[in-house]
Amino acid sequence: RDVTPEVARPAPADHDVVTITSRDRVIFPEAKKTKGDLADYYAAVAPVMVMHAARRPISLVRCPQGRAKACFFQKHDSGSFGEHVHHISIREKDGGHEDYLYVEDAAGLLACVQMGTIEFHGWGSQIAAVEHPDRMVFDLDPDEGLDFADVRKAALDIRGHLADMGLVSFAMLTGGKGVHVVVPLDPGHSWDAHKAFARHFAEALSMAEPDRFVATMSKAKRKGRIFIDWLRNQRGSTAVMPYSARARPHAPVAVPIGWEALAEAKSASRYTIDDSSLLLERAARSDLQGWGFAAQALPQY
Ligand code: ATP
Ligand code: MN
Ligand code: MN
Repeated sequence: RDVTPEVARPAPADHDVVTITSRDRVIFPEAKKTKGDLADYYAAVAPVMVMHAARRPISLVRCPQGRAKACFFQKHDSGSFGEHVHHISIREKDGGHEDYLYVEDAAGLLACVQMGTIEFHGWGSQIAAVEHPDRMVFDLDPDEGLDFADVRKAALDIRGHLADMGLVSFAMLTGGKGVHVVVPLDPGHSWDAHKAFARHFAEALSMAEPDRFVATMSKAKRKGRIFIDWLRNQRGSTAVMPYSARARPHAPVAVPIGWEALAEAKSASRYTIDDSSLLLERAARSDLQGWGFAAQALPQY
């Protein structure tokens, strides 16, 4: 199929082409939010969300009976999502191929919501060049006892270290506990180089400041520290997409945030699916213009 880059494509299709059934079904019991509320949220933020989430292989967190019931992480589908959710064949580690999902527009997002999707997670590469990542993520996962102020400071420090290497980065509140530091990159390097850079960066930081950071997943070593989860940057891994809702109690959402605003942010989960108007207003503000985009190559090191 046609995989012309985003900039050359026509405006997103009208989301009204997707019918949402069972709009009154309660999806977030704690917040008393329904499938209709969730669909309205996604329809509203689709214009800003599509810029980041479209044309990447995606995995979905689906909770058809609501977030308090069974949820599952879905990477593949044989066609039940309908015509607005597309497939791309990707080579598996074992040499075989699997069809992965991607969307191109608001209709694609809404078709997923109709199928019970709450969260959208995306690869670090686009369907036009699956083997060449264009997005690095440092997923900051704080140990339970830590204050959000520690996470904030960590993100700002990481931004500084990246800037020292000539890299522009952006912050996103995950809607959960942490912050993602996102580094857009020209898709000219391999997954191996991508992962190696992320790993070395995280390990260097944990060696320089072992009291604040760890670069290994082990919960025991995390005590009082922040795990810099660089493993989001290997082929096949995903990270939650900007503006995705989260399947957590108060229907929080993942949101891009400017660095100055981050310095004042009180938590990673303060915005919810009620805040679409506010988020659209914020997205139009100067500190979020161009969020997540920069033309820069992975440094040689
Ligand atoms: P938080 O700020 O609370 O950590 P998060 O989105 O960073 O929110 P993590 O638990 O750190 O959550 O997960 C990081 C990423 O791992 C997720 O964004 C997601 O893309 C991926 N992930 C989560 N659950 C699964 C799963 N069941 N299978 C595969 N990947 C997953
Ligand atoms: Mn995380
Ligand atoms: Mn993580």
